[in-house]
Amino acid sequence: MADGQPIQTIESATRSDTGAVILARDLLTMDEKTFTELRRATWPPTRRPDHPGPPLTFRCTLCEAPLSLTRLRRNGETKNRFFSHRHPADQNCPWLHRNRLRPDQIQAVDYFHLHEGEIHRRLKHFIADAMRRDSETDPETVIVDRFQIGKVLRGERKRPDVRAAWRGKPIVFEMQLSYTFISEVVKRDYFYANEGSFLIWVFYERRQDRAMVMDEEFFNRRNLFVLDAEAEAASIEAGHLMLNCHFVRPFLDEERRAIIDVPESRLVSLGDLVFPEGELRPYYIDCDAMRVPLLTRLEALEEADRQAELKKRELIEQEWRAQRASQEVREQAERAERVAQATIAPQLTTAVPGRDRLAPHSELSGGAAAAQIEPPRLVWEAVHDRATSARIGQRYMLTHRETNWRSVYSAAVEARSQGIEVSEMVTKAVEETKARPGDIRNFLIASRLARTK
Ligand SMILES: [Zn+2]
Repeated sequence: MADGQPIQTIESATRSDTGAVILARDLLTMDEKTFTELRRATWPPTRRPDHPGPPLTFRCTLCEAPLSLTRLRRNGETKNRFFSHRHPADQNCPWLHRNRLRPDQIQAVDYFHLHEGEIHRRLKHFIADAMRRDSETDPETVIVDRFQIGKVLRGERKRPDVRAAWRGKPIVFEMQLSYTFISEVVKRDYFYANEGSFLIWVFYERRQDRAMVMDEEFFNRRNLFVLDAEAEAASIEAGHLMLNCHFVRPFLDEERRAIIDVPESRLVSLGDLVFPEGELRPYYIDCDAMRVPLLTRLEALEEADRQAELKKRELIEQEWRAQRASQEVREQAERAERVAQATIAPQLTTAVPGRDRLAPHSELSGGAAAAQIEPPRLVWEAVHDRATSARIGQRYMLTHRETNWRSVYSAAVEARSQGIEVSEMVTKAVEETKARPGDIRNFLIASRLARTK
């Protein structure tokens, strides 16, 4: 009872022979014979001559300290079976401080002892063995560190999982686990860079949904090293470490104006990697560098798009300005016409002294009727009979179709109201309408606008 709290405090242990994890709760349902055999296997060979070979040992899943397997009996009855730390000095184990851990740390501890502990131990020894077999490694330099999650949780861990000198280069391998936070990765990068060691983060799976996987990919020029079953088999076959490198090959989709990253993977050996001086993060392909010329091209395309858009907008604006100008001209003409109409109505009553001068069948009797009649004919009809006015009007309109007699008329009405001379009126109308001066004069006379005051 080295811990003082032996009751299933240690939730799992690793067997030294197979590396398998045994859960403490499974000890309770184990039959007596199996349990006894398990305990006997941990005894020194001298106490069990029937079972030669090294004794079985159990190690704590979290702190890797050696464990004892104990049975608690009371009144001849088994009350409990449990693991406990063999040495009282191993007090840093997270199991002993479980109630003091943060919820995320408890989650990390649970995940590690149930899923990753075994994988982590196995793979780090696999890397160490593969490195020792590599003819370019100095086997004396290969070191596997005891991993203690307790220290990791307290941020104390500095020793790498595996360390080796390969082609004279100091290389550190770190297994990346689900709870390895980016802050820890950055810290470790900084630490080993200061030390002058190349650091290779090794994942045991590549899960896209995991933020860490994404972080590492983007951090290390989009290279991610995975020691999966395929890489393990390749390592055994090659006689040195092989890793599955996941990376992306970017290409420019000019039509969509986008850089598309096509994911690829390849089995690589250390000899395939670039070991950059200064950064100390080995990589297979520099996907960031491959993007640079594509980005330059993309920027040029986007700039061309911007220029084309500007040009298009300028054309639209030009067209709009032209439309507005002609609209203004139209509005001016309409304003002049309205002025003319307003001037005609009172003139009709003053200019026409008696109804006897109007044609007997004239329809000029109300405002509503007057508004429907075109201004020149209105006046002609006021001074001539309807047939004469139609004739005069038609004459001018037929001989000079291009001339806008309506605007000649309204300009003349306005000029007359301002006391402008007839000759001046004619000159102005000739300029504006390109009609012959004689016709303008005749028109003015016919419409009684040229009469002297
Ligand atoms: Zn422990």
